[in-house]
Amino acid sequence: MKPYKPEMAMMAARREFGEHGGVAPSISRSATFTVIDPRTVPEIFSGIKKPDQDGCFLYSRHFNPTVSVLGRYLAAMEGTEAAMCTASGMSAIACTLMQLCESGDHIVASDTIYGGTHALLAELFPRYQIHTTFVDITRIEAVEAAMGPKTRVVYTETLGNPTLKVADIPSLASLCRERRVKLVVDNTFSPMVVSPAPLGADIVVYSMTKFINGASDLIAGAVCADSAFIGRLMDLHQGRVMLMGPTMDPRVAFDIIQRLPHLPLRMREHSRRALAMAQLLEEMQVPVLYPGLASHPQHRLLKSMINKRYGYGGIFAVDCGTLDRAEHLLDVLQNREAFGLIAVSLGYFDTLLSASSASTASEIPAGEQLRIGLSPGLVRVAVGYTGTLKARLEQLRRAVSDVFGTTGTSGAGTPKGS
Ligand SMILES: *Cc1c(COP(=O)(O)O)cnc(C)c1O
Repeated sequence: MKPYKPEMAMMAARREFGEHGGVAPSISRSATFTVIDPRTVPEIFSGIKKPDQDGCFLYSRHFNPTVSVLGRYLAAMEGTEAAMCTASGMSAIACTLMQLCESGDHIVASDTIYGGTHALLAELFPRYQIHTTFVDITRIEAVEAAMGPKTRVVYTETLGNPTLKVADIPSLASLCRERRVKLVVDNTFSPMVVSPAPLGADIVVYSMTKFINGASDLIAGAVCADSAFIGRLMDLHQGRVMLMGPTMDPRVAFDIIQRLPHLPLRMREHSRRALAMAQLLEEMQVPVLYPGLASHPQHRLLKSMINKRYGYGGIFAVDCGTLDRAEHLLDVLQNREAFGLIAVSLGYFDTLLSASSASTASEIPAGEQLRIGLSPGLVRVAVGYTGTLKARLEQLRRAVSDVFGTTGTSGAGTPKGS
């Protein structure tokens, strides 16, 4: 498979200038749009005149010029025909799945996914007779065995939250094609690093709250897919985004448009630092999960899927064994070392630290957490890029040495009490 080049694709995308020749695009903030000829209105409603081709806008919940600019950049980045922005990652995921599934339909999903998505599939959708079977997504035979005549969707994250399990997108895609099922991939953890659509995914969803925006100052999402699917989401009569209305504000779209050009630089630095930190912890013989390490069970798989030059992503996890010790590590890292901030989310310029079992994965029941390998002592580290890497490595070494009682020299230390 030819590797995708997201930066080249973004460079080739149509550049949008501001109304007065501004190097930044204009923010088009109108809720509704006027026409000169009254006969244009029914043509817009019936879809004869379209926003993109004919410049005919109707109403900003339907399409907005500024939000559409961001959609075009995202489509270029992902290698899809089109993309639709939404008010949050959750709305992008919920609307996509509700567009694909009706009452009585079935979803096969990875058991290692964002807590909110897990709750949507396990708790809310069953109330509408849409049922989900959760499987270990790394076992293709388990995915196939879970499929039935009503299965419409296979749903996975590229790098599963928070254990960083890697989904084999090309293999899942060929299984899905064979069974006429849609493969939906949440690529929130790995923009630029992996391009799921060129690898065979039908639909790519994002929380742009994380890496893509990168400033932790807004909530946003996106659906990237072929034009037909994006058109269905916006259909005036049946479109799930159109009718449930999780509309992106054009001011939010503008902010993300202005940050997208440095996403490649940011991803490279997030990844470079995450790898260095994961290597340090491995050297200190502390249990660390990072798919960029040769010791990670799906390292080779991820290596075969990544786009060149963006590394293996900016997130790793340290297993402290117990929640108590995880909280101790968080305390030392934030309050003594100033290494990062105790907060959920990821993709910020400062490092964000969270104990997954008690936060972003807390919607997943405890027994289920253990079964999917989510230790109660797992600390997720979403690596930032402030400060020098050298100083950050020293802070991490000191904190981990204290909490684990390892020396980190000669690799001879053993975790205290394990
Ligand atoms: C945060 C997150 C979501 C939800 O996105 P919001 O923008 O908070 O609605 C979905 N999937 C993953 C992997 C996430 O990290």
